[in-house]
Amino acid sequence: MKSIKLLFENLYVRLALAFIIGLLTTFLIFYINAPRVSIFGFHAIINIQNKNDRPFLGSSFKQMNYTRQDFELFVGSLLNRKIWFLSSEELYDYFVAKSKPIPAGHIGEKPIMLSFDDGYKNNYTNLLYSLERLEQKYGKKVKVVLFINPATLATYDSNASIHMTCNDLRDGFKKGFYDIQSHGLTHKNLTKINDKELMAELEQAQATLRKCVEGLDPEEKVAAHIAYPFGAYNGKVKEYASKYYASGYLYNSKPLRLGWLRNNYEISRITVNDTQSPNKLIKIAENSLKLKK
Ligand SMILES: [Zn+2]
Repeated sequence: MKSIKLLFENLYVRLALAFIIGLLTTFLIFYINAPRVSIFGFHAIINIQNKNDRPFLGSSFKQMNYTRQDFELFVGSLLNRKIWFLSSEELYDYFVAKSKPIPAGHIGEKPIMLSFDDGYKNNYTNLLYSLERLEQKYGKKVKVVLFINPATLATYDSNASIHMTCNDLRDGFKKGFYDIQSHGLTHKNLTKINDKELMAELEQAQATLRKCVEGLDPEEKVAAHIAYPFGAYNGKVKEYASKYYASGYLYNSKPLRLGWLRNNYEISRITVNDTQSPNKLIKIAENSLKLKK
């Protein structure tokens, strides 16, 4: 104990400690205040008055719901503000790869992204319905990013089905609301499968989604990016993903901090569920950086 006390009485040790603490504090301040893009990660959008949505009120889905009514309050409020609803391509070009300058028309706006995982039928029946209503009301089209597992798409059209069909995807895509991206073929945890399975999950997801939108996507913008199922990834997943996709999205409840993105395959997303009020989500959106010239 005495020797430790003596050590701290040494001027050089004190100076070194002060320097390290100062450095860590500066680092922390820069990190917390880094300009951010809020990328929201939704799942099901439910209408509590619709009996087909009732399975989503069960405990296993509880964490993943957001009501259509709250969603419209949230997005309606954003449409009254200067918000830029990014597609996956725009996020990549302007903020990740930074290969293009920000278009002048978006200066003064705050960039955010609305993403939806797993391809639930209610992303067609409720979400698309809301987006069309909002467009009528505010005269603006909101683009949403859907991360889809093509192997779980329904093969027949029924409102009782839990998942969308390929035709639902095509319809929302043609109307200009859906940006369709990959969530792996079958929603497997990509860190827990062998190399061959990993390759198949990545490659076949892309091929099947592009087949689904055949004739509508000549520039192959569909399935150009991936969100890892369960947000699970490791070095190998990132390496294999880079063979097919330009970027990879996490599900880690963090904003994307510009300047702190170490890797294009680690894009943070903020998880959303029914415990977060529209006002809370509006505040998170307002925390995105305001674009300057
Ligand atoms: Zn998922």
